[in-house]
Amino acid sequence: MSRPQEVNDFITKHSPNAICNKCIAQGLGWTNDAAHPAQITGALATTNDFNQEAGACVICKGNKKVIRRV
Ligand SMILES: [Zn+2]
Repeated sequence: MSRPQEVNDFITKHSPNAICNKCIAQGLGWTNDAAHPAQITGALATTNDFNQEAGACVICKGNKKVIRRV
């Protein structure tokens, strides 16, 4: 599975909750050396299927930039 597809599936799995980039990376088991998910979530956010905004992450409860499936 491609990385964008993995991210897409991970966010969809947590829908309708929003998740931050860090928790996406951790949830997918990506190391710090791996491609950062920010680029992927940024691309997903340009589609009609996803919304990226400031809010609370459902996993780490942090208030930061999060993405959710619309
Ligand atoms: Zn988080």
